[in-house]
Amino acid sequence: MNDVMVRAEQVCKSFGHVDVLKGIDLEVRNGEVMCVIGPSGSGKSTFLRCINHLEKINAGRLWVDGKLIGYREHGGKLHELKEREVAAQRKDIGMVFQRFNLFPHMTALENVMEAPQRVKRESGAMVRARAAELLERVGLGGKMGNYPAQLSGGQQQRVAIARALAMQPKLMLFDEPTSALDPELVGEVLDVMKGLARDGMTMVVVTHEMGFAREVGDSLVFMDDGLVVEKGAPREVLSNPQHERTKLFLSKVL
Ligand code: ADP
Ligand code: MG
Repeated sequence: MNDVMVRAEQVCKSFGHVDVLKGIDLEVRNGEVMCVIGPSGSGKSTFLRCINHLEKINAGRLWVDGKLIGYREHGGKLHELKEREVAAQRKDIGMVFQRFNLFPHMTALENVMEAPQRVKRESGAMVRARAAELLERVGLGGKMGNYPAQLSGGQQQRVAIARALAMQPKLMLFDEPTSALDPELVGEVLDVMKGLARDGMTMVVVTHEMGFAREVGDSLVFMDDGLVVEKGAPREVLSNPQHERTKLFLSKVL
């Protein structure tokens, strides 16, 4: 288990009578970049949200960073982590959404400082220095004092990535991080993500950017209708899909 960051076995999630995840099996190794593709409504966001404890699974087993975060016994009893353990684990997971969700009344620097400041493990000076370093890393060293409204979409998304990194996560989840951006701003965000991947960050990336998946992904998962239909090396899946549903999806997006 030590080299596995996420392991899902038959993970199910439903909302009321709607079964959204119907038995997801997959594994993300430490240092792996897994890209996830699939039609709208196939359960990609829901799966990321389960990993990050934003949703509770209904059945199956899900381990994150060696911890079993929930499973239902044969016979029906649901086992869950304690609230304190959930909080501890969420600190180790960074998430970036399609919409940037920055605090509008805070500067870029303050946005990146906010979470570590709230946790107060370190001095203010330390937090500030690291936030500044992270903004440099995403190419925004010159924009630290800007408010979100004074930044382009691509710049805001790069601040959001820096903010997620500020808690020094072990795992980064990206949910269509470039889908809301003007086409000319997509590259700068993907470049930051490429840098992270190069530095060895474990990442699960829901994306429609097949070029990114091919170039940066270690694995590519195709989800449809609440199931993993196909998983493999990105080049393989993209050029030689095995399943009809994958072929159909790729024929629409490539
Ligand atoms: P994707 O990210 O692949 O587009 P989602 O995980 O967002 O798919 O959604 C999968 C399905 O679950 C959709 O049919 C959606 O309407 C439904 N769903 C997601 N979240 C909720 C919720 N909180 N309540 C009810 N239905 C939901
Ligand atoms: Mg989604």
